[in-house]
Amino acid sequence: MKIETLGVIGAGQMGSGIAQVAAASGLRVVLNDIEQGLVDKGRKSIEGNLARSVEKGKLAAGEKEAILGRIRGTVRLEDLAAADFVVEAATERQEIKFQIFRELDRLCRPEVILATNTSSIPIGRIAAQTRRPDKVIGMHFMNPVPVMKLVEVIPGLSTSEETLKTTWALAEKFGKTPARANDYPGFIANRILLPMINEAVYCLYHGVGTREDIDTVMRLGMNHPMGPLALADLIGLDTCLAIMETLYDGFKDSKYRPCPLLRKYVEAGWLGRKTGRGFYEYR
Ligand code: NAD
Repeated sequence: MKIETLGVIGAGQMGSGIAQVAAASGLRVVLNDIEQGLVDKGRKSIEGNLARSVEKGKLAAGEKEAILGRIRGTVRLEDLAAADFVVEAATERQEIKFQIFRELDRLCRPEVILATNTSSIPIGRIAAQTRRPDKVIGMHFMNPVPVMKLVEVIPGLSTSEETLKTTWALAEKFGKTPARANDYPGFIANRILLPMINEAVYCLYHGVGTREDIDTVMRLGMNHPMGPLALADLIGLDTCLAIMETLYDGFKDSKYRPCPLLRKYVEAGWLGRKTGRGFYEYR
């Protein structure tokens, strides 16, 4: 089946980025969120990214308009019936994703692949919510999507070889480099990244260093482009906590226990850049 229209669920930082790269590759996009204000916010962020590319001379002004013209925002999940392939990038909560996949399974044509951008929820568990587990797969983009090259492609136990091939080819069409990970908690990227971030939060919690010193050590000492606490703010502390919980639940190993300070920040609504405050403050 030819993929001409991509459905994207969730117009947050990841969903809007996925919509942007898909529209830039020539696909039509139906971008869904639960409120019109959130759809508009996602669209605004895409517009801002494209405007910066125009300013830098990387994109023609006409091309910006053409890309935006291919993205249609909607709060009606029914509009996803037009999609030839769907990527779900809603909030990292199992019950939200289960509900979305049950509804997508009902609304989308039977041959349509339903991919999830989940950071850590098992693909097999999401696939089991549908009557098409062979067509459910993980398609894990990195943040910020328009910049980062990697897409982790994660087949579940029931995912077919054809679904894997189609998803791999789509990632390449978006100009990304896919890498395969098998369906274990956190896959590859977050199995390695999040325990490091969590340990940085423990360093802050135990008073080993200030936020600035912890980030400076990792930037200058390990040559990381961002310190782990600044990166956690970029990812979203709610998402970081959700991933740690999934690792802890999945392995029942105390090395994955989330730092109490991370939980405390999330409970206070300090989610990082998206709420203006996390380990750092943002205007
Ligand atoms: P976000 O909070 O920026 O956006 C999530 C969006 O999903 C919100 O706009 C929310 O309103 C919407 N949403 C919630 N329930 C919905 C529903 N039922 N239908 C439609 N939309 C719904 O979060 P994000 O950072 O974009 O993360 C989205 C997904 O991507 C999560 O699964 C996350 O784990 C994953 N992810 C995040 C990162 C990252 O660095 N933030 C990286 C890779 C993958």
